Amino acid sequence: MMRNGKTGEAGALAAGAAGTVAGRAAGAAAGAQGWAVGGAAAAGGAVGAGLRGCAEPLSTAYDAALLDLDGVVYLGGDPIPGAAKALGEARRGGMQLAFVTNNASRSPSAIAAQLTGLGVPATAADVVTSAQAAAHLIADRLPEGAPVLVVGGIGLRIALRERGLRPVSTAAEQPGAVVQGYAPGIDYGILAEAELAVRAGAWYVASNADATLPTARGLQPGNGALVQVIVTATGTQPVVAGKPERPLHAEAVARTGARRPLVVGDRLDTDIEGAANGGADSLLVLTGVSRPADAVLAPPRRRPSYLAHDLAGLLEPHPEVTAAGGEFRCGGWSARAAVDSGQLELTGTGAPIDGLRALCAAAWSADGITAEMAAPALRLLRFPA
Ligand SMILES: [Mg+2]
Repeated sequence: MMRNGKTGEAGALAAGAAGTVAGRAAGAAAGAQGWAVGGAAAAGGAVGAGLRGCAEPLSTAYDAALLDLDGVVYLGGDPIPGAAKALGEARRGGMQLAFVTNNASRSPSAIAAQLTGLGVPATAADVVTSAQAAAHLIADRLPEGAPVLVVGGIGLRIALRERGLRPVSTAAEQPGAVVQGYAPGIDYGILAEAELAVRAGAWYVASNADATLPTARGLQPGNGALVQVIVTATGTQPVVAGKPERPLHAEAVARTGARRPLVVGDRLDTDIEGAANGGADSLLVLTGVSRPADAVLAPPRRRPSYLAHDLAGLLEPHPEVTAAGGEFRCGGWSARAAVDSGQLELTGTGAPIDGLRALCAAAWSADGITAEMAAPALRLLRFPA
């Protein structure tokens, strides 16, 4: 049985920032030589240290995009305008695409069919799910053919079988592990079986720990909420495979064979933090959950390497934010954090995304920036709420 990809990864975080908040302008262009062999760690600057410049389009500077789906490619089933076109161009330019999702309920082939229907041609092999990452973790620990109790949907069952494991539904079958992922039909009976199995010593694994699930009606309980049933009853916490934990990222890197992966996501707390945990650079797009204010206020582990409105940002060079004397400049904008006076100052004109880049760099250089301090500068940029 294959070992988990995470064991082969290079050290996650390069030590120490490079002295400027902005990444090196030459970083991406020279990047081919700058990456740790066999791993995803950037040698040119600390991952998570801040925004980087990239002198060439991201789609040529990085060999693979590890793309989140909801909020990036589609939004609740509707395609995000321009996403299919941008991904097609990135792919034609040589960038490999992988679709990496915390959703464990659907099979990779079902997700690939949905993507293809939205104008983003994909095969099952292009889709990496938290169910697959969870199955991989379990396969590394249990012998081939071992019974695994499934609380969840078809995606988990398929992933277990692909790894040579045997999905079961009762504690009486003495499963070596319990794996739990969201599915709409989970009932008391299967939760009770899982609880009995965990209490009897089965290893407890969760596909992901998302507290909520975005739906057309709003936020509904996600797998992280359902997991709490077992946690409350047994006192046992699960090992989590999905973002922001490392196994799913490692699975995606192993699947693509990426040497220089770029994680692309809409959530700072899953996609971007997951990239940092995996030692990869990341692009935050503003088409989903995280808003410009969230980026400005992001704690260090949740700071993306790049910012863009949407996936068209893959096809562009990214300007460096330059820092001098406490002033952070990008495009026509200049930002400064004056924490003593309680202000985040922004002046200038030009593309709002450049203003946001300058603002993030300034905010991340200081401690104690609050939403109130950031609000006036963000209003100047007029991003949609
Ligand atoms: Mg998302």
